[in-house]
Amino acid sequence: MVVPARAFDHRCDPQVVLDNLADLVFVLDTAGTVLDVNETCLRLLRWNRDDAVGQSVFDIVHPDDVAVAISSLGTLQDKETGTPIELRVSDVDGVWHWMEIIGSNGLLDGGISGLVCVARDITQRRMWEVAGGDVARFQQVLHHAPSITMLLDGGGVITSVNHAFTRLLGHDPSLVVGAALATFVDESSLPLLSEALQTVRGAERRSSVELAMRTTSRQTRLIRFDLVDQLDDPVVGGIIGSGYDISDLQVVRQELEFIAGHDALTGLANRSLLMERLGRMLAEESGVAVLFIDLDRFKPINDLYGHDVGDAVLRQVSARLLDVVRHSDVVARVGGDEFVAVAANAGDRDVASDLADRIEASLGRPYLLDVGPVKIGASVGVALSEPSSTVASLLSAADVQMYHAKSERRGSVEPRAMERRRSAGERRNLAIELAAGLGRGEIVAHLQPVVDLVTGNVVGMEALARWNHPERGLLRPASFIDLVDDAGLDAALGDAVLHSACRVLEDVRVLGFRLELGVNLSLGQLTTNGFCAHVAAIIEPYGLTMSKLVVEITERATLLRNVPRGCPSPEETLGELHEAGVALSLDDFGTGHSSLNHVRRFPLTSIKVDRTFVAAMARQREDHAVVEVVIGLARALGLSVVAEGVETAVQLDMLRQLGCDRAQGYYLGQPMEATSIGPWLIDRRRYGAVTDQQR
Ligand code: C2E
Ligand code: MG
Ligand code: MG
Repeated sequence: MVVPARAFDHRCDPQVVLDNLADLVFVLDTAGTVLDVNETCLRLLRWNRDDAVGQSVFDIVHPDDVAVAISSLGTLQDKETGTPIELRVSDVDGVWHWMEIIGSNGLLDGGISGLVCVARDITQRRMWEVAGGDVARFQQVLHHAPSITMLLDGGGVITSVNHAFTRLLGHDPSLVVGAALATFVDESSLPLLSEALQTVRGAERRSSVELAMRTTSRQTRLIRFDLVDQLDDPVVGGIIGSGYDISDLQVVRQELEFIAGHDALTGLANRSLLMERLGRMLAEESGVAVLFIDLDRFKPINDLYGHDVGDAVLRQVSARLLDVVRHSDVVARVGGDEFVAVAANAGDRDVASDLADRIEASLGRPYLLDVGPVKIGASVGVALSEPSSTVASLLSAADVQMYHAKSERRGSVEPRAMERRRSAGERRNLAIELAAGLGRGEIVAHLQPVVDLVTGNVVGMEALARWNHPERGLLRPASFIDLVDDAGLDAALGDAVLHSACRVLEDVRVLGFRLELGVNLSLGQLTTNGFCAHVAAIIEPYGLTMSKLVVEITERATLLRNVPRGCPSPEETLGELHEAGVALSLDDFGTGHSSLNHVRRFPLTSIKVDRTFVAAMARQREDHAVVEVVIGLARALGLSVVAEGVETAVQLDMLRQLGCDRAQGYYLGQPMEATSIGPWLIDRRRYGAVTDQQR
C-alpha cells in the first residue's frame, strides 16, 4: 500500500500547538520571573500578556504554598525534570485554582533559556478526591461552612444541602432535600431562576444569579448563587450551587441608588433620574409636558444672607413644587436654582400653561425664613411632547422657552444665561477656531497627579485638555469642550491630548517614574470604530502599555444620543478597552452625570467621587455619609475609590480614615503643564509629600 506522502509531511506550527494545549505553560527564570506563557495560561488565569510577563510567579501562588513552589523551583535547576507538585494559583479575580505542576529544565536550551512549567487545573478533581477519601469529614466541613452549598439535579430539585441553608432561611433540612429550589424562591425571582438553570445547562456550564429567597419568618433574603454543571461527573452527578447572603449589600445598593438618583439638598430627583424617567414616560405615553423652572433673584439672596439661607429657600421651593404637581409627576433639581417638572397626560397646551401659572404663583409667594420674609420669583418654560420628541429635545425646548419667559419679564438677560446659550453663529465660529487651533497644536494636556493614600506616592496623572488660545490665553475645557462632540472634533482633540500626555510620561519614565495615565473620553470617541486599536497605536511608541491606561467616562458621555448606524456602542468600545487591559473609571460620581446603573453596565475598575462631595464633606454630615457609603459599596464590588478635588488637609485626613484608595486635588497637586511635571516629581521625591501650599 502506498501511503500518501502528505500524511508524513504534516507539520504544525509549534506555537499554535502550544497555545492550543489544555495545559498552562509558563517559562520562568531561576528567580521565578515569568518570561513567557501560552494562550491557555492567559485565558484560564484571565491575564493579559503585558501584565504576566515580568511578574514574579510567586505573586500568584497561595501564601501557604509559596515555600513548596520555591523549593521545587530550586531543585529543578540541577535536574532535567522535576517532581510533580500541587499548589494553588490565583487568577486575576482572586479565585484560587488547584494546579498540578511539573517542571523541566530548559536553561541550557538556547531556544528556551528558562525553566518550563506545565500546569493542569485540578480544582474539581481535588475537591471530590477529598470527598471520596474522607466523606464524613468533608461533609462535616461542608455542613458548617458559612455559605450555602447544595447539589441540584437537572430539573432544579435539591438532592443535598448544608446547614447554611437552614441557618439563613430557617427551612427544615428534611423538607428541603427532595424539594425543588423554586419552592423556596420568592415569586418575583422565579423567572431568573429558570433562566439560570437553563444557562448552567448550556455550553458555559456555569451561571450566577441573585434570587430573593423566602425565609420561614415570611421575609425574603437576597442570595447570590453560583451554579456549576457537574451532571456528567460520575462522582458529583449534579449541579453544584454555592449561595451567599447579599441582603446587606442590597440595602447599601438601594441607599446608594437613591443617593445617586437624587439631589442631596432637596431630595428631588437629579438630572440623571429625570432623564431616565422622562425617557420612560415618552416611551409609554403621549401628551407629556416638560416645564423648565428657573428662580429669579435667587443669587442676590444667596450672596446677601449666605448659603444656609439659600439652601433653606431651595428646600421650600422643592416642597412647593411637589405640592403643585400630581403625585405621579416628576420634579427634579437640575442646577443650582433650576428645576424641571414633568407631567404626564398634560399634552394639551392649556393644561400645561395652567400648571406653569400655578407654579409661578406658588413660588412667587414670600418665603418665611429666620432672617425674615424673602421674596423671589420663577420663570417657567413649557414644552409639549410630539411623536418625534426625545429627552434631549424636550429639555432643551423647555429651557429655551424659559429663557424667553425670563427675558420678556426682565427686558434683559443675565450674562451667565447668555454664555450658556451661545448662538448657532457663535458656536460655528468657535468650532472653526478650535479646528484651526488643533491644527496649530494649541491643544495640549495639563497633568494632575493622582496620589495613593496608603503609600503617599504619586501613582498616576490625569490628562486635562487645555487650549493655548493665541488671544484669550489658557482656556479650560468648560469654555470649549461642549462644542467638541457636535463639531466632530472629538477624535482630533482626544488624540492631541493623548499624544501630549504620553510625551510627558515618556520623559518622566527616564527619571524613574512609571505612572498610570488617566484620560477623559467623549461620546464620539466611544462610538468610533477601532478606537481601542487606535489608542494602542498612539501610546505604544511612547513605551506606554494599555495596562497603564485608565479611561474616565461620565454618564453624560454614554447617554442621550443614539449610536450612529455601523458604529460600536459605548459599551462595546469600553468592553474592548477592558479586554486590552485598560482600567475604566466612572468620573464625577454622585453628580447626576453618573449613577449606579453604570457600575453594573460597564466593567469598571474604579469610581471617582465628585469634588462637590469632597468639598461638602467636612461641613455636612450627609455628604460625609455619601462618601462613606460609596467607599463601602465600591469595596463590596471590588472597585477602588478615587476622591477628586481635595483642597485641604482636613479633607485628606477624612478620606484616609474612610479608607479611600486614591485622591486628586489642588492640595496634592494642581494640573501642571508638561515642562513642570518632571521637576515637580523630583522635588516631591526629594522632600517627601510636601504640597505647594505647605512649602
Ligand atoms: P474631570 O475629569 O472631573 O476633571 C477634574 C476637574 O477638576 C479638572 O477641571 C481639574 O482642573 C479640576 N480640579 C482638580 N483638582 C481640583 C481642586 O482641588 N479643586 C477644584 N475646584 N477643582 C479641581 P478642568 O481641567 O477644567 O476639566 C473639566 C472637565 O472637562 C473634566 O472633569 C473632564 O470631564 C473634561 N475634560 C478635560 N479634559 C478632557 C479631554 O481631554 N477630553 C474630554 N472629552 N473631556 C475632558
Ligand atoms: Mg476626569
Ligand atoms: Mg471628575
